[in-house]
Amino acid sequence: MSEGLYEELKAYEGLPAAEGGVGRDLVNEPMIRHWCEAMGDTNPAYTGPDAIAPPTMLQAWTMGGLGGHRSRSAAQDELFGLLDKAGFSSVVATDCEQEYLRPIRVGDEITFDAVIESVSEQKTTKLGTGHFVTTRMDVRANGELAGTHRFRILKFAPAKRPSTAGSASGPASGSASGPASGSASGSSKPAAEDGKPARRPRPVINRDNAGFWKGVEEHKVLIQRCTECSVLRFPWLPGCNSCGGAEWDTVEASGEGTVFSYVVMHHPPFPAFDPPYAVGLIELAEGVRMISNVVGVPHDEVRIGMAVRLEFLRTDEELEVPVFRPVGASAAVGSVA
Ligand code: ZN
Repeated sequence: MSEGLYEELKAYEGLPAAEGGVGRDLVNEPMIRHWCEAMGDTNPAYTGPDAIAPPTMLQAWTMGGLGGHRSRSAAQDELFGLLDKAGFSSVVATDCEQEYLRPIRVGDEITFDAVIESVSEQKTTKLGTGHFVTTRMDVRANGELAGTHRFRILKFAPAKRPSTAGSASGPASGSASGPASGSASGSSKPAAEDGKPARRPRPVINRDNAGFWKGVEEHKVLIQRCTECSVLRFPWLPGCNSCGGAEWDTVEASGEGTVFSYVVMHHPPFPAFDPPYAVGLIELAEGVRMISNVVGVPHDEVRIGMAVRLEFLRTDEELEVPVFRPVGASAAVGSVA
C-alpha cells in the first residue's frame, strides 16, 4: 500500500511474463471449423484451400487446454507474490485488446511469449483497492509476429461487505457472457489446495457487460434491447446482431423462464465445483436464453421444458449469480433467494 511497494512493483515492467510458449497444435482446419460453428461465423475466408483462421482465434492457438502447459515466468510469479503479500490477493480479469498483424493459416506453427507491460499505481474500484497489471503476449506464426494480445487484470483487496448466509456451496463459474452453474445440492464445498474454501471463478467484467453485472448487484437480470430495431439480445454485446445498431437500452427480465436445454457436469473436476450438477440453458419469458444453474432439484430431475423462476445465489462474500429454480421446488440449503 506504500510508495515503496509501487516502486517495487514498477521494477517488473518490461520483464517477461511468459517465455518460450509453443502452441499445442499447428493451426488446423478442425479447430477453425469448430470455432466458426460455435460463433455462427460463415465468412468464406475461413474455408477452402486459401483459408485463413479467424483473427479472433489468436489466443486459442496459445491455450494449453485441460492438459495445460505452463510458461508463466518467475518474474510474474514474484510480482503476484508481492501483490498477494501486500493483501491484494484477489484477482479479476478486466479487459483485453488484440491487434492482428498477419493472417494465420493452416499449418502455421504458433509460438508466443509475454511481457509485463505495466503495473498501475494503487487504484480503488468498486471491487476493492489494488493494482492493474497489463501483460502483452506476442503471438508468432512460423516465427513472424502475427498479433498481440494485451490482457489486464486487477489484483485487489476486496472491499468489505456485510456477509450474508450461504457460504457458497457449489460450483459455478462466471464468464464474460454471464453466470453459469451452481449446485442443486447444499453439500459442503470442496477445499482448494491451500486449504481455504475454493471459490468460483470471478466473472470477467468489461465495458461491454458491466451493465449486466450492475443489474445483478441490484437483483435484476437486464436484457439489452436495440433502440433501432427493438430486438432483444443476451448475452450482452456492444452491437445489434440484427441491424448492426450500436445504441441500446435495457429491459428487466420478469424472472420467468423454462429449461430450453441442459447438461449435467461430471467432469472435469474443479475445486469450487461439486459435480454432478445441472447447467441449464434457460429460455427467459422475454425470448432470450441464458446459461445458468438449475437449483433446488437433484441434477437428474432437471427436464427440458421445466418452468423455472429466477433467484440470486450468493456464492461467497463477493459474488452473487442469477440462478433458476423449478417453479414449486422449495428453497434449498445453500441458496439465498
Ligand atoms: Zn437492431
